[in-house]
Amino acid sequence: MTSHRIAVLPGDGIGQEVMKEAVEVLELLKKLDPSIRIEFDTFGWGSEYYLEHGKMMPDDALDKLKKYDAILFGAIGDKRVPDDVTVWGLIMPIRKKFKQYINLRPVKLLKGVSCRFTGEDIDFVIVRENAEGEYSNSGGRLYQGLDQEIAVQNTIITRAGTKKAARFAFEYAEKHGKGTVTSATKSNAIIHSMKLWDETVREVGQEFQAINLQSYYIDALAAYFVLKPEEFEVVVASNLFGDILSDLGSAVAGGLGLSPSANLNPEGDFPSMFEPVHGSAPDIAGKGIANPIAQIWSAALMLEHLGRADLAAVILESIEEVLVQKEVQTPDLGGNSTTSEMGSAIRDIIQQLLLVKEGR
Ligand code: NAD
Ligand code: MN
Repeated sequence: MTSHRIAVLPGDGIGQEVMKEAVEVLELLKKLDPSIRIEFDTFGWGSEYYLEHGKMMPDDALDKLKKYDAILFGAIGDKRVPDDVTVWGLIMPIRKKFKQYINLRPVKLLKGVSCRFTGEDIDFVIVRENAEGEYSNSGGRLYQGLDQEIAVQNTIITRAGTKKAARFAFEYAEKHGKGTVTSATKSNAIIHSMKLWDETVREVGQEFQAINLQSYYIDALAAYFVLKPEEFEVVVASNLFGDILSDLGSAVAGGLGLSPSANLNPEGDFPSMFEPVHGSAPDIAGKGIANPIAQIWSAALMLEHLGRADLAAVILESIEEVLVQKEVQTPDLGGNSTTSEMGSAIRDIIQQLLLVKEGR
């Protein structure tokens, strides 16, 4: 019997609201399918914790998290704490310490959701390099406060880091029967780091003769995401480019309320972390109207990672069924249902599907 230990980190704002629904989905699966044993421990780290203790999580937090098979994360961000403090105090240490160097973000137009730009099927993934690149704390400021003030922010692109991201993208394409990997670049203007990126991606691509590599400048690629999103299969990008492309991809495929992500440690020597693309949404936090689908889908990605692709598929099918029925829709989808109504609707379908599957 599989037993999985999950660390649940709801975080701030709507993170807590949508996490409740995702945990209830997992509880339901546990009840319906005795072959899955999941144990959760919930950690209340985040901005409240910071306001009380002066840090986002305790000093031994990473040691504690290390023992889990996976981390299910909500979102962080609070108006009372600077965003760089919340990000560098919690998310970045987890991603870095646990070598979660791949951020995988599916961009998929779910059944029942329409894209305002194209009628076509959208179904691709963004493989974002998650450990280096533009998000570094290397650099500094000179002559602070003076007119001559200068800020230097270094981008760290390494051959080894880029190789790993590129290899993940090509292997993903190979494994999922995709024909093309698209690389996001800007080597016409960012001539040191992005040229190394291009060279390395090309080099890795040569090992995968059956897969075509195309390279687009990030500005043009952003436009193509809107104009012809149906053409992409696997997109590989540096940390910043991948971050921007994921929000864009998410907007094209129905919005942040529907977009999950996985921070992966492909070697499996540390836990991977699963979280929605969205943040803590202070504009709607506390109202109980956030869409829990991105969080529930993130939990499905987690189950897939833990070897239960069958359960992940049931969750996704249930989400799509609710979206097709259109009876329960949160405000971001144009309705006026609540977070918990959406969660319950999805759980009802999961229950039906699993009972049918077992012939009960
Ligand atoms: P955001 O994703 O929180 O919100 C952007 C917009 O999308 C808002 O209008 C919000 O209401 C809407 N939205 C987001 N998720 C939704 C959902 N599930 N259902 C319905 N609507 C949803 O991004 P932001 O406004 O740029 O940032 C707010 C805070 O979140 C900031 O403090 C930021 O640092 C933080 N943030 C955290 C993460 C993370 O935890 N990984 C990611 C992004 C932003
Ligand atoms: Mn982002």
